[in-house]
Amino acid sequence: MRRVSANYIYTNAGEPIRNGVVGIDDSGIIKEIIDHKGKEKEYAHTEFRNGIIVPGFVNCHCHLELSHLRNRISKNLGLAGFVNQIRHHRLTGETVNDADLADAMNSIIKSGTVAVADICNTTDSFLAKQNARIHFVNLIEVVGIEGDKAQWIIDKARATKLIADETLGANNHLTPHSVYTLSTPLLEMLSNEIATNAIVSIHFAESPNEEQFTVQRAGGLTENYASWGLSTHDAPKENPLEIVKRYLPRQANTLLVHNTYLRRQQANELAQHFPNAYLVLCPASNIYIENSLPDIPMLMSSGVPIALGTDSLASSPSLSILDQMKIITQAFPGIPFTQLLNWATINGAKAIGQDRRLGTIELGKSPGLNLISPFDFANNQLLPHSRVIKLA
Ligand SMILES: [Zn+2]
Repeated sequence: MRRVSANYIYTNAGEPIRNGVVGIDDSGIIKEIIDHKGKEKEYAHTEFRNGIIVPGFVNCHCHLELSHLRNRISKNLGLAGFVNQIRHHRLTGETVNDADLADAMNSIIKSGTVAVADICNTTDSFLAKQNARIHFVNLIEVVGIEGDKAQWIIDKARATKLIADETLGANNHLTPHSVYTLSTPLLEMLSNEIATNAIVSIHFAESPNEEQFTVQRAGGLTENYASWGLSTHDAPKENPLEIVKRYLPRQANTLLVHNTYLRRQQANELAQHFPNAYLVLCPASNIYIENSLPDIPMLMSSGVPIALGTDSLASSPSLSILDQMKIITQAFPGIPFTQLLNWATINGAKAIGQDRRLGTIELGKSPGLNLISPFDFANNQLLPHSRVIKLA
């Protein structure tokens, strides 16, 4: 058994343990957690590190298949400008290559992430995931604004899911892209397809453009469709909250991604309607695209649990969850580190249905172990130069 120790162990299941020791077996299962309660003694073969040990991170929103778009999308053009650029790249037919995927995968693992909810529009990322040492939930994304193409689109998504089921195991789910990119017929078909015990994710309240489109048929997204020559006649015309309430199953684990422009009333309504909702925050991507951050203290007060994601390398400089935590700490220093750590670990594990194994340092679990160093012990906070080392 390997024993690791640091100034504090943040287990997420009780108070941080000063100079605690965690013992893990070869397969990463926690076999021993030692709290000296102030009477430290030496244990054989214990690796002591300066810093804090925390459970492995869970990334609740990523698009591995966009990893070739790093540094290729202009910043701060707003959501409509971002979507336009992504569409342009898709139309060129260029797809992610093996080297980009391998780099992205390595950076995810190296930055201490143990599980990822990854959006798939294609099968491009599947081969890279087959031998991955981390857990993937594959969210097969359904998108298409033209009603007459709905059947073709849902059939294609089903076929992609079938390939995922055959090659990647069981954790694959059909999921809508957003409230502004699916026709009503497609939303209806998808709604019938999504099981109540599924995991569903949707890009939500990422920009004021979303509501402008769904309510008024105005704003940048509406202009995009006009310039692409696509009719928006078949898209739903009501407010975004009503759309998700109408088409997403209430009981599913519902990952609402971004929430940059979510209002208090909407957050409260989501809390009321979806008992298993999670607000997934991707702050680096929000800064890149909209140059804006969600009102996180307000979101916290809604009671909907928060989890973290990175989004893709098209809009985020890294796929590191610690980087998201540091951005939040800097913008909202009043948020306690323990809370932020919950978002980065156990809440994400719950959101993707992996909390029996991941998210806390407890006997019998195999959450992965990360060392964060340096750490501001006086204020219990991350520092701008805090780094993560994957210990297990
Ligand atoms: Zn996304």
